Amino acid sequence: MALDTHGQQQNLIKPPHVAIVPTPGIGHLTPLVELAKLLLVHHNFTITFIIPNDGLHLAPQKKLLQALDPQAISYIFLPPVSFDDLPNDVMVEIKMVLTLTRSLSALRDELIVLIQSTRLVALVVDLFGTDAFDVANELHVSPYIFFTTAALSLSLIFHFPHLHETTTCEYRDLPEPIQLPGCVPLHGRDLTDPVQDRSNEAYKVMVRMCKKHRSAAGIMVNSFVDLEPGAFKAFKEQGQGLPPVYPVGPVIKMGSVDGFEGNECMKWLDKQPNESVLFVSFGSGGTFSQEQMTELALGLELSGQRFIWVVKSPNETAKNANYFSVQGSEDPLGFLPNGFLDRTKEVGLVVPSWAPQVQVLSHRATGGFLTHCGWNSTLESIVHGVPLIAWPLYAEQRTNRALLVDGLKVAVVVKCNDKGIVESQDIAKYVRGLIEGDEGKLLRNNMKGYKEAAKLALSQEGSSTKSLAEVAQVWKSLNT
Ligand code: UDP
Repeated sequence: MALDTHGQQQNLIKPPHVAIVPTPGIGHLTPLVELAKLLLVHHNFTITFIIPNDGLHLAPQKKLLQALDPQAISYIFLPPVSFDDLPNDVMVEIKMVLTLTRSLSALRDELIVLIQSTRLVALVVDLFGTDAFDVANELHVSPYIFFTTAALSLSLIFHFPHLHETTTCEYRDLPEPIQLPGCVPLHGRDLTDPVQDRSNEAYKVMVRMCKKHRSAAGIMVNSFVDLEPGAFKAFKEQGQGLPPVYPVGPVIKMGSVDGFEGNECMKWLDKQPNESVLFVSFGSGGTFSQEQMTELALGLELSGQRFIWVVKSPNETAKNANYFSVQGSEDPLGFLPNGFLDRTKEVGLVVPSWAPQVQVLSHRATGGFLTHCGWNSTLESIVHGVPLIAWPLYAEQRTNRALLVDGLKVAVVVKCNDKGIVESQDIAKYVRGLIEGDEGKLLRNNMKGYKEAAKLALSQEGSSTKSLAEVAQVWKSLNT
C-alpha cells in the first residue's frame, strides 16, 4: 500500500508511528508496553497496540493499557477468536499462535486504517507473532520482532531448523548437549515443551515460527550485551542470513503498588530485616499439583526463613493452568496444609494469586526469589540484584534456567525426585542456603554485578540505549 509523492510529503510531517501486536499473556504485553513508552519518551514515536484475543480474561491487559496516554499510545482489541474446535489439552503455545493467525484479516484492516491515518513505519510482534509478517509485507510495513526472552533462546530459534533437519530422535534423547555459538551448552531436555514431541502439531508450528524469525527486518532482544556477550557477538559474526539483532533490555515495568494485598505486602516487608525475605512466585500462569503445593508449603515452614508466597489453586494436569486467565476460580488458601497459615504467621505472608512483584523485588528486605524463571521475572530480579532459586515449569523456562545456573551463576536449581516432585526437606535446604548460606552470598554478589551492568546498559550512553536509538533511527529514515 505505497503512498504517492504528495501523500509521502504529508506523511513526513506526522510523527513516526509503530503498530505493536502482542500475542496473549501479560508476560508479553508488559514489556511491549514498556518498549512503547521508551519509543514515545526518547524518540517521539506514537504507537497503536492491536490486540488479538479470545475475548476472555482481558481485565489485566485492559488495566495496563488504560493507564497510558491515549493521544500517544492507543489500543484496539480485535474481534475475539474462537477456540471451540480445539481439544481441551491443546498446548498454550498453539493457542497463542492461533489467536494471531485467526485474527490476520482483522489485523490487515486495522493496519490499512493506520497506513491511511498515520506515518506507519513498522509492525512489531513478539516471538509468537511472526505469522503477521505476511500481512506486513503485503502492505509494505517493515516487520520487526521484540524478542521477549533471552538471546540464548533467540540463538536456539535461529539454529532450530538445522537441528530439525539433522536429528531424528526426540530432543530429550539427544546424547550430547547442543552447543550454540557463544552460549552455555543446552541439554535437549531443556528445550521448550512444544518441541519435545515431534508428532505434535505444536512441533510443526514451532519449526515454522523459527524459520520466520530470519525474515524479520530486525529483532530487538529484551536482554543486554553484558548479560549475554557471547550470544550477541555470535549474531554479529554470523552476519549474512540473519536479520540485525538489537540488544535493548532490560525493558521491565517499574509498576505501582495497588490494591489492598499489594499494600499489605509492602507494609509487611517494611517490618522485616534487610535481605531476609524469600519471595515465592511462579509468574502469571504457573500452577502445581496438590501434592507439590503441600511439599512447597512444608518446605517453606521447615526452612524457618521469612517468605512472601503468591499462592494459586493447584492443578493436577497442567503447570501453566492460569496462563490465559492469571487467576484460578477457587480460593487458593483453602488448599494449604492444615494449620500452615497459623504456624507460619510470624515469618510468612501468603498472598492469593497476585502480588506487586517488582515492588517486592525492589524492597530492601527481599533477599531471594524462588521463581519459575519466566524472563520478565528474571530481568526484574537482575535489575534489583536478587539471587534466585530456579524452579522452571514450562515454556522456555528450562532454557533460562541453564543460563541463570550454568552461565551467570546467579541461581541454584531445584531437583525433583523420581515422581517429579521437589521434596520439602530439599526446598528447606535451598531456601536456607540462599538466604543465609555461603552459596547464597556468592550468588547475591554475582547478581549485584549484573545489576550494575544492567544500570549501565540503560544509562544515557549505555549499550541498550544506543541500540534502541539505532532502531528508532532506521524507522525514522523509512520513506512511507
Ligand atoms: N507478576 C506480578 N505479580 C505476580 C506474578 C507475576 O506482578 O504475582 C508479573 C511479574 O512481575 C512479571 C510478569 O507478571 O512482570 C510475569 O512474567 P514472566 O515472564 O516472569 O512469566 P510468565 O507469566 O510470562 O510465565
